[in-house]
Amino acid sequence: MIQIKNLEKSFGSLKVLRGIDFQASDGEIIVILGPSGMGKSTFLKCINYLERPDKGCITIDGIEVHAECCTEKQICALRSKTSMVFQNYNLFKNKTVLENVLLPMTVVQKLTREEAKQKAFKYLKQVGLMDKVEEYPSRLSGGQQQRVGIARAMAVNPKIMLLDEPTSSLDPELVLGILDLLKQLANEHQRSMIIVTHELNFAKEIADRIVFMDEGRILEEGTAKEIFENPKHLRTKKFLDNLKV
Ligand code: ADP
Ligand code: MG
Repeated sequence: MIQIKNLEKSFGSLKVLRGIDFQASDGEIIVILGPSGMGKSTFLKCINYLERPDKGCITIDGIEVHAECCTEKQICALRSKTSMVFQNYNLFKNKTVLENVLLPMTVVQKLTREEAKQKAFKYLKQVGLMDKVEEYPSRLSGGQQQRVGIARAMAVNPKIMLLDEPTSSLDPELVLGILDLLKQLANEHQRSMIIVTHELNFAKEIADRIVFMDEGRILEEGTAKEIFENPKHLRTKKFLDNLKV
């Protein structure tokens, strides 16, 4: 269970998040849609304190963190409940595929190398990369690199996975493979996911709920059917119409 109350974040005088209230239940898959520059990435990053919010309270699985008064220990506890898949993969280029997946488990979770290896192999197998474990990221395709990013994010067994446009850096022919993998993972593992994407068909298929973000706020939310067939706000409708052409 994740609950977010009145989250606010500014960069200097630019107000990016203007009071976001949000919640997700265990296993729920939420897709965030919205125009560029409206705070979607900032919102995901604030959830695990990659960016520090100015105001608001985040609770994940009983760990409650108030932006105005929180300790490093609380932030670490919150982070341990989450993992992130980035648009540009964010792999360590000087480390092998296996080391990339092991690192958060050995360094952050303090698992032994053997325990971590077992989990790493489990997820590398699931994403179809067992033949690449000793390879370096530069020798992989974008799709393969993103599979490493997904295996790394799954392996830490997060309460919630945050995915920021996981296919937007990929060549078009690689997009469907990654979207299929994400659908399969969402079905198999009862794990909450918050996914920012512009892939509308994927959103329709995977989302339990769709959230439309605009100007640092959640403008509306609902099932795929509600949002796509009957958006309440003109801005949502315009955004969707533009993506369809
Ligand atoms: P989205 O993901 O919806 O495209 P972002 O959350 O990346 O939007 O950005 C929202 C706004 O915040 C943009 O105007 C962006 O330029 C600004 N912004 C994002 N990160 C930073 C940062 N680290 N420093 C200053 N401005 C930022
Ligand atoms: Mg973004």
